[in-house]
Amino acid sequence: MAIQSVNPTNNQIEAEFEPHSSAYVESALERTEQAFKSWSAESFAYRGKLFIQLASQLRSQKEDLARLMTLEMGKTINEGIAEIEKCAWVCEYYAENAERFLKDEPLTTDSGKAFISYEPIGCVLAVMPWNFPFWQVFRYAAPTLMAGNTGILKHASNVPQCALAIEQLFIEAGFPVGVFQNLLIESSGVEALIDDRRIVAVTLTGSEPAGAKVAEAAGRNIKSSLLELGGSDPFIVLADADIDKTCRIAAKARMINCGQSCIAAKRFIVVERVYEEFIHKFTAFMKTYIPADPLQKSTNCGPMASLSLAEELQRQVSESVKAGAHIELGGKMAGNQGAFFEPTILTGVKEGMPAFEEEMFGPVASVIKAKDTDHAVAIANNSRFGLGGSVWTADPKMGLEVARKVQTGAMFVNQMVASDPRLPFGGIKKSGYGRELSHLGIREFVNQKTIVLP
Ligand code: NDP
Repeated sequence: MAIQSVNPTNNQIEAEFEPHSSAYVESALERTEQAFKSWSAESFAYRGKLFIQLASQLRSQKEDLARLMTLEMGKTINEGIAEIEKCAWVCEYYAENAERFLKDEPLTTDSGKAFISYEPIGCVLAVMPWNFPFWQVFRYAAPTLMAGNTGILKHASNVPQCALAIEQLFIEAGFPVGVFQNLLIESSGVEALIDDRRIVAVTLTGSEPAGAKVAEAAGRNIKSSLLELGGSDPFIVLADADIDKTCRIAAKARMINCGQSCIAAKRFIVVERVYEEFIHKFTAFMKTYIPADPLQKSTNCGPMASLSLAEELQRQVSESVKAGAHIELGGKMAGNQGAFFEPTILTGVKEGMPAFEEEMFGPVASVIKAKDTDHAVAIANNSRFGLGGSVWTADPKMGLEVARKVQTGAMFVNQMVASDPRLPFGGIKKSGYGRELSHLGIREFVNQKTIVLP
């Protein structure tokens, strides 16, 4: 079946591609194996120079690359430009820091000297999603390749043009043949890749079912895997929070990328003393997001990435309302064409409803009332997910206490959750395992070899 690029603003087909043949896939595997031999032996300085060049190309083409994302998955043009800037940053960050992160680490033993040597392992397969079509790829590629590994990308089927553009950027930056390659294949072809001896590890960002399948195949092959899956991040508002500021950021944290971010705030857990005030002010800020043409620089809310995603969100909202949730704002798909969805607030959300239990991957905020701080923490932890979260309070000591108690991979106090090359990123529970970014991210796909000397 052809791989289609469909514009979610109007549901028109933008482009179609035939999937790569099995012969092409085989040749890519051969190229990656050959490339690894020389790439893994290159200096950090050489690899870093290529990543600096790549960063400069990203910056110089940022308007065009952002436009590509807008046409393929509906991201607003401003968010697209910011995403490309961030990709350039992560390239520079690892170009500058990889050598330091991977330098020999001395250890003390009884018998003599010892150290850890961080060594490249081979080709790491990346199975990536459509929501941040450039960032998710660069977040993996910069540390993985700077460590001396090679990479093969299997991108989401709805963003083939972004996938091809990324591969082209690597070629134009001067990366040797086979160091980074894109495969246009369906997800049914992933298992065979993991089974292949030339793939040594796999990383996936996406849904739980896809993560489980990939981890299963990796486990069967005794290969390491990293999973960055969904989230239902709590946004905890305590009684002493600055409600104006909190509500402004609450709307931003929910509406990032039209709500399609794993670390978007999804469950707004508000203590009852400020519940009514929060809803009133939060609604006012959510109303400032107006679904419109994502190519216009004045637009702050585009369509969702596809009609099927918008329909799935509609199901989650309808079922939650049937179970007793109240629509405070929005609640349905918007416009006559395209995958637009109204910015939505559901109040009175309780355990058991889809709006509480499932990942709401779109512009729908679930507001949950808590009796007090302890109750808010208990609600936050009553989730299958554990990616990120934030807490809002005037008391920094209390902020830290809550941050320590919430079971997630990251907690932010009085700030919205955001990824940053300098901070480890990843989850616990059904949000996955392993860490990307920072010094931890670059040590995921290396041989942490112990060397003992006399
Ligand atoms: P998927 O998890 O299906 O897609 C993510 C990637 O995994 C794509 O490259 C996809 O390829 C691939 N994939 C899917 N199934 C398999 C499989 N069995 N074996 C190997 N690879 C597979 O996400 P969807 O696009 O279907 O989105 C559904 C939901 O997933 C969202 O509503 C959201 O809840 C969650 N999600 C979370 C993301 C995050 O950032 N944490 C990102 C995207 C989705 P292909 O496109 O060819 O199927």
